[in-house]
Amino acid sequence: MLTIGLIGGMSWESTVPYYRIVNQSIKQQLGGWHSAKLVLYSVDFAEIEHLQQVGDWDAAAQVLGQAANALRLAGADFFLICTNTMHKVADQVERAAGIPLLHIADALAAEIKRRDGGTIARVGLLGTRFTMEQDFYRARLAAHGLDAIVPNAADRATVHRVIYEELCLGQVEDRSRIAYREIVQRLIDDGAEGIVLGCTEIQMLIGQSDSPVPIFDTAEIHARAAAGYALRNQPT
Ligand code: GLU
Repeated sequence: MLTIGLIGGMSWESTVPYYRIVNQSIKQQLGGWHSAKLVLYSVDFAEIEHLQQVGDWDAAAQVLGQAANALRLAGADFFLICTNTMHKVADQVERAAGIPLLHIADALAAEIKRRDGGTIARVGLLGTRFTMEQDFYRARLAAHGLDAIVPNAADRATVHRVIYEELCLGQVEDRSRIAYREIVQRLIDDGAEGIVLGCTEIQMLIGQSDSPVPIFDTAEIHARAAAGYALRNQPT
């Protein structure tokens, strides 16, 4: 089994499920007392959030690059960045790491293609405004032949605000769940055949029961893919 490296803490609310799911997944596959070989480097999200706000992505990449390098020195064979947003600097971080990155959008694309007999071609993407509005994430999905549509401007602002002002602080509000459900329905009306929870905290707020079309929880998909990679040395 390979040793998994996790860069977590962005926010820690979503790193907790990563740790649980990776271990559950290894146990499911190997049984008994088996658990994941894993190293976690958890950052201070306040530092990262500040760098996002001021747009200093190079400095954020340096912080994560150092974390990735520390994971390698601690024995990790490959690593994950446990957030969608920070994949904006995935290439820089992977270069600094010296070990392979298991990219969240690649794991997501593989899962979308597996689900429903591979018939889903267009998904609705919920995430931070960086993930919804910039190219790094949607282009990666497009390279896998998947079209990602995003909410309108007002809905994007709501989705983004709830992530930072509530979910990343551990707050789960009913009124936000209702707002997200309505946004999901508008994406479906616009042609989404599946909904991507493209922020690792959104699973705290909504799940499959909130959507008539398949939900893709990137935190769960990414964590499961890590377990598969650790056991088979290839993305699942
Ligand atoms: N965890 C979130 C994501 O998946 C947002 C926090 C961050 O900005 O990294 O995008």
